[in-house]
Amino acid sequence: MRASCILTIQHGVGYTLVKIILTSSVVTKLLTYDTRYFMTRLSISDLSLKGKKVLIRVDFNVPLDETGTITDDSRLEASLPTIKYVLDQGGIPILMSHLGRPKGVAKEEFSLNPCAKRLAVMLSAPVKMAKDCIGPKVESLVKNLKQGECLLLENLRFHIAEEKPQEDPSFAKQLAELGDCYINDAFGTAHRKHSSTYYIVEHFPGKAAAGFLLEKEINFLGEYLLKPRRPFYAIIGGAKVSTKIGVIKSLIGKIDSLLVGGAMAYTFLKAKGVSIGDSLHEPELVDKAKGIMDSFEKAGVQLKLPKDHVIVNDIHEYSSVQVVDNDQGIPKGCFGVDIGPKTIEDYSQELKNASTVLWNGPLGVFEIQRFARGTRAIAEALADVNATKIVGGGDSVAAIRQGNLVHQFTHLSTGGGASLEYIEFGTLPGIEALETAGKAEII
Ligand code: AMP
Repeated sequence: MRASCILTIQHGVGYTLVKIILTSSVVTKLLTYDTRYFMTRLSISDLSLKGKKVLIRVDFNVPLDETGTITDDSRLEASLPTIKYVLDQGGIPILMSHLGRPKGVAKEEFSLNPCAKRLAVMLSAPVKMAKDCIGPKVESLVKNLKQGECLLLENLRFHIAEEKPQEDPSFAKQLAELGDCYINDAFGTAHRKHSSTYYIVEHFPGKAAAGFLLEKEINFLGEYLLKPRRPFYAIIGGAKVSTKIGVIKSLIGKIDSLLVGGAMAYTFLKAKGVSIGDSLHEPELVDKAKGIMDSFEKAGVQLKLPKDHVIVNDIHEYSSVQVVDNDQGIPKGCFGVDIGPKTIEDYSQELKNASTVLWNGPLGVFEIQRFARGTRAIAEALADVNATKIVGGGDSVAAIRQGNLVHQFTHLSTGGGASLEYIEFGTLPGIEALETAGKAEII
């Protein structure tokens, strides 16, 4: 059986009528899933780019050492397909990004200059660097750009209005005036309602699209996590429960088991009455943590906490370590800095049952080699598990890269916070803005 429907797709001021013949199974699928299937988020390949100045929001928030040298260029690498495509199509890429947290002040240490230099080598093409991201000098640079050239605007966060658009709504407009069309390829910041990720898009009706990296992230997360193969396990680590509480709650209805690690485990352990000494935790969230554990129990979803801990009395590379279990507890004056060997064994065994695993956040103080063991061990254990494995968050992804395990994982997301919010809400502000810009109406 076949059914037909007509979509009107708004392109600028004109409308294109598209008659689509759909099989009944496709119609059923469209109707039983949500309305997002009806929204037209344009893809970069939908836009005609020849001779156009193409404003691309990229995520060049790379780590730099004290000398200003890029220590990991994987974010630059990840944006290459989109930039190269624009160049190949005869478009002129104008790249914009943030780097670090300069909080509205232009500071040399947060300049994107090192990215321009590295990108030129990676692209084998000239990459000009603007001294600012808006203003008459930038406009004149943009005006004089030639085909084959690429321009990188200076750090967007040198202007307070990037992160706080309400402080100057003209900032997004000034950025928008630099380009003929807009591409968002910065998945890592797509969960932020910032000028360059959200407010700018309204200036490009029918001319705003997702880049290849953003598309890839949405496809992977959508395909594997919104409709996961079960059993579905999540490993959540990191510093605070407060930053991940929303997603933890939303996971209750989605996963079969949650393995908790990192400092956030101590808020849960305190709620269970385990002595946590001076370990990093959030006292004001102990009751909420108790409530979350109760909700997991009621829903029949397993929530596992570490059984033992690597503890120190000073968080330092050379401090002497001890391992204690929950019965012994962590004494006053000591901090839990990593999961212990029993927990590594327990979590590694558990993960063998998984068909899908989502991992976000380190299981210990990952920055210090000796306390990164638990995180590394879980990366290694997970590498051997035959499951769909999606990892987000700088430290967990770093553990996988450092262990040369990249090829044993399904997808390493470029956005830790963004991937969690995507799972929590099923969309992100940056994606919604693109959907509005490419709006389709069903008649
Ligand atoms: P997040 O950004 O929430 O993923 O948190 C990452 C941070 O959590 C890293 O800087 C880790 O050092 C920190 N972290 C993980 N485990 C612990 C712990 N047991 N004590 C203190 N900090 C921790």
